[in-house]
Amino acid sequence: MNIHEYQAKALFEKFGVPVPKGAAAKSAEEFDAALGQLADAAIVVKSQIHAGGRGKGTFTDGFKGGVKFCKTKNDAKIVAGKMLGNTLVTIQTGPDGRKVQTVYFTQASDIKKEYYLAILLDRATSRPVIVASTEGGVEIEKVAHDTPEKIFKVHIDPAYGLGDYQIRQLIYALELTPTEGKNATKLIKNLYRMYWETDAAMVEVNPMITTPDDQVLALDAKVSFDANALYRHPEITALRDLAEEDSKEIEASKFNLSYIALDGNIACLVNGAGLAMSTMDIIKHFGGNPANFLDVGGGASKDQVVAAFKIILGDPKVKGIFVNIFGGIMDCNVIATGIVAAVKEVGLSIPLVVRLEGNNVAMGKQALADSGLTIVNGDTMADAAQKIVKLVA
Ligand code: GDP
Ligand code: MG
Repeated sequence: MNIHEYQAKALFEKFGVPVPKGAAAKSAEEFDAALGQLADAAIVVKSQIHAGGRGKGTFTDGFKGGVKFCKTKNDAKIVAGKMLGNTLVTIQTGPDGRKVQTVYFTQASDIKKEYYLAILLDRATSRPVIVASTEGGVEIEKVAHDTPEKIFKVHIDPAYGLGDYQIRQLIYALELTPTEGKNATKLIKNLYRMYWETDAAMVEVNPMITTPDDQVLALDAKVSFDANALYRHPEITALRDLAEEDSKEIEASKFNLSYIALDGNIACLVNGAGLAMSTMDIIKHFGGNPANFLDVGGGASKDQVVAAFKIILGDPKVKGIFVNIFGGIMDCNVIATGIVAAVKEVGLSIPLVVRLEGNNVAMGKQALADSGLTIVNGDTMADAAQKIVKLVA
């Protein structure tokens, strides 16, 4: 689960990670109250969306920059008015962009130098890793590609926690002065404590900055949490912003369906995550593109199948549906009846290929045949995949 920068910075403050002072506003009426909390000096106005690259982004009406430096509070108010309700497109949002529903005013900082700092889980070593670079403020992927020697990593043994010697290694690698190093120590220590105690999946500070008076601040903040641990953190779960999530994915989670929206045009409805992955692979293999990942689970009910169909058909990109069911725990006949009920309820104007195998398959196939609906039968997974790819071509 992702949260907004302003929410992440509130958490940073709670854990003693230094950030510039700021205040958020969700409507123009709130601008004065928010700005009233800040000093009468330069202000940075920041669009709050769950995507990076805001500074270099452009709004759909042509207004440039989702992060803007303003000399006065008055300028900040005008800029915030242009951002709020406007749609921001960045390299991370995709071409549709994201609607800005909150703006964040921060007291502008004087930047001496920008750094990159992140903490995440390294799956290869099964340990948290701190990633730092002297090349902050820019795309870290680009730094990793062009100048990998400028990226430093420290792996942390979770049993011992972050060692002081490891912080010194980072400070040395970032070439900080003694005073900067002392301040960075506090920031890194507290950031790691926050990462650990909140069950964060990733904490990214890009940029972390030094100021002319040797302060070290988190100027940007991107934080995501391990959804499996959210039950332990109701105060963090409360930060979830449904407006930032795919409406189809929210609907799916209500029915306990594992659904991830993708860019292709062949919808998949599958039982079991592994089979769902290989279904997407085989669609690709035969030249098609999956519109989603969808695992209805081992024991899906008819209601879940109907809900799944509605979600799939609510996606205007979908030009065909591939149902791939292996009835191990699942009864093929239950799935078949669910499909027929769903199609009768929501209607179907696009091709549907069904591959059923396993428990009670004959009865399931019979139920599909008897329904009078145009459902194409796939004998094997490969046969079904080829058929659906051909039908949407
Ligand atoms: P992002 O574009 O979504 O990553 O948003 P950031 O919060 O990282 O801001 C983008 C860039 O704007 C930063 O890398 C800085 O160069 C600049 N910036 C942001 N806040 C300030 C500030 O307080 N003072 C100054 N001088 N520049 C800032
Ligand atoms: Mg940034």
